[in-house]
Amino acid sequence: MTDAKNWKPATRLVHGGTTRSSFGETSEAIFLTQGYVYDSSEAAEARFLGENPGYIYSRYANPTVGMFEQRMCDLEGAEAARGTASGMAAVNSAIMACVKAGDHVIAPKALFGSCRYIIEKLLPRYGVESTLIDGTDIEQWKAAVRPNTTVAFLESPTNPTLEVIDIPAVADIIHQAGGRLIVDNVFATAIWQSPLALGADVVIYSATKHIDGQGRCLGGIVLSDEKWILEEFHDPFKHTGPAMSPFNAWVLLKGLETLSLRVERQTSNAGKIAEYLADHSAVSRLIYPGRDDHPQADIVKKQMQGGSTMLAFDLAGGKEAAFKFSNALDIVSLSNNLGDAKSLITHPATTTHQSVAEDARIELGITDKTLRLSVGLEDPEDLLIDVSRALESLKG
Ligand SMILES: *Cc1c(COP(=O)(O)O)cnc(C)c1O
Repeated sequence: MTDAKNWKPATRLVHGGTTRSSFGETSEAIFLTQGYVYDSSEAAEARFLGENPGYIYSRYANPTVGMFEQRMCDLEGAEAARGTASGMAAVNSAIMACVKAGDHVIAPKALFGSCRYIIEKLLPRYGVESTLIDGTDIEQWKAAVRPNTTVAFLESPTNPTLEVIDIPAVADIIHQAGGRLIVDNVFATAIWQSPLALGADVVIYSATKHIDGQGRCLGGIVLSDEKWILEEFHDPFKHTGPAMSPFNAWVLLKGLETLSLRVERQTSNAGKIAEYLADHSAVSRLIYPGRDDHPQADIVKKQMQGGSTMLAFDLAGGKEAAFKFSNALDIVSLSNNLGDAKSLITHPATTTHQSVAEDARIELGITDKTLRLSVGLEDPEDLLIDVSRALESLKG
């Protein structure tokens, strides 16, 4: 194979990382094996000494997971990666590899619920302090830095209100403080945003979302430079066991082959729905990172190559209208998942963010009126008919 570095993203997504067994299979093989055998005791000793490259145990590495990791590295422009059992395993293992008792972490308040739990509740139990800020206000990042700050963690766009954070600006601040920037790039996807190129040190994904994109497997990945992965990340990862299943790696490899097609179409569909909702009298607020009226439209233009497959909007009629509208949808399903081929809608205040205290929720812009829509691969005309019918039902 030629060097993947010369390939464009769509080619990397189909061919990146492929290794073939002696059978010459077209599709990537699933190596559902826990362990590996050695030709001799001497070979086993050499393998364990690191003198003879190869696999030892699938908690450390596996050929199918390795193909997924390499394909993601090719896509992301990362030197090394480790696949994980879920997106949260990726977030947790990446943060844990960067901190020790006495350290300090900065993150925005607007975070995926489980990410916020790790930073706000779990880390302090082990002596790692955290400060939660408004991530869109760069001055707050600067003010939060302490001598013991080792990590800045962020998602952009955020869940569910699609705030966009200036990644290069935060990278500068944390680098001056001697720390690392970890970016959760789930909402943007690798197709529209490349955090490593924008100054991030570590990128994580929930592969459960757009990378699978068809609602089947949980998975995650941590990507960074080789030095950090080998020297800081690999040992805690290998000894604590958040490894990805080879079967899931295979499903996710297949998902990657169509990732750019799906994300481009889902984004185009989302743009059409955003345009329709923006002009509708029942909609009191629309947030879509592909529009000029997005609160951080300038930053979107600087750091993203496309809009989003996600949109958020408020219905003027409040919770009652939000429920009635969601219940009236026929094609769009009620689900808290996202990035799927099927369009999915959720009412964050009563589902994904139900456990967030009301005042904290309101501060995040998540009101009883707010709905989050993950736009799928259906024909956009059918989706528009579905949405407009459900909006009509609010009049009755
Ligand atoms: C879903 C999600 C996660 C967690 O991923 P899982 O695969 O469900 O563990 C983390 N961050 C963001 C932004 C997500 O949307």
